[in-house]
Amino acid sequence: MDAIPALPQIQDLTRRLECCRAKAPHLRRVYRAWLGRAAWPDEGTLSLPETVRRELPALHGFLRSLAVPVLRTSARDGSSVKLLMRLRDGQTVETVVLPKDAVCVSTQAGCAVGCRFCMTGRFGLMRQLGSAEIAAQVAAAREVNPGIRKVDFMGMGEPSHNLRAVLEAVQFLGTYGDFGHKSLMLSSIGDRRLFDALLALPEGAVRPALALSLHSATDEGRRALIAHPGNLQVAEMVSLAERYSRAVRYPIQYEWVLIRGINDGEEEIGRLIELLRGRFAMVNFIPVNEVEGSPFRRPAKPECLAILERVRAAGIVAKIRLSAAQDVEGGCGQLRARADALPASPSA
Ligand code: SF4
Repeated sequence: MDAIPALPQIQDLTRRLECCRAKAPHLRRVYRAWLGRAAWPDEGTLSLPETVRRELPALHGFLRSLAVPVLRTSARDGSSVKLLMRLRDGQTVETVVLPKDAVCVSTQAGCAVGCRFCMTGRFGLMRQLGSAEIAAQVAAAREVNPGIRKVDFMGMGEPSHNLRAVLEAVQFLGTYGDFGHKSLMLSSIGDRRLFDALLALPEGAVRPALALSLHSATDEGRRALIAHPGNLQVAEMVSLAERYSRAVRYPIQYEWVLIRGINDGEEEIGRLIELLRGRFAMVNFIPVNEVEGSPFRRPAKPECLAILERVRAAGIVAKIRLSAAQDVEGGCGQLRARADALPASPSA
């Protein structure tokens, strides 16, 4: 198994198993076990060819080494668990086990988008994740909560910047992990390549739900908050998103990190309403996570509620969502930042 390249992709695992004469049902048996849907097969599992069975111990060790939890913090109320995962080359990414049987996975180590309110954005991009490393985070999360049935691709990284691996992970999880298509949620700043790929997915393929990080209803406003907001203007992004939501028949989620004095004003919210009125969409307002060294502050609760009411009154489905486990360095990238400040070899 160590012959697999440093950036582990699911297709390399499949090739390796096929070299051991695994056919589709055997792949299914092994992959479902990896994703916590069946017991791990052993030498006595006669439904697998002997050549596959011989490979199982090495394969198991390899899969478990793809994303190893080395640091763990829990919310005070126990609702969320944040894991710092060490990859095989020592890079680390964050995975958050969320309430309501969901997990948030990372798609890159670091991120090149540079949202100004995000700790991960400060690190820049370290490297891509392989599709197997993305799936391995789900497998590890199911060891914390075996009931996980929803995956948000919303952790460190921008999925459209690692599109091939992310889409391979989506197909894999939807095929072997007992996840409904709608329960696999890609979160993106919006990128033409992403829409091209999603709109080209055939009927039988796993077609994920989509969340778009909007944060402002104008191109100028987005550029002020996002260093590299992608290659689409807001109007075109919303119109492509509308096409996708009608094709898959589930709404687009628009994410709006609420920042006091930046995007919580009457005019800005008015533009948001005009942009999304009548669309097959919903808005998640996320009061900004206040991190040390950042100038951004969240609006007070009554202001957040007033914005919510106004948007709802315009006929748009909207919610206020707190970012997960905020009391335990829940903002994206904070756990990794803390780990960087720790001595080497933190223990789980
Ligand atoms: S919020 Fe997401 S897209 Fe923006 S910098 Fe952070 S990880 Fe990247």
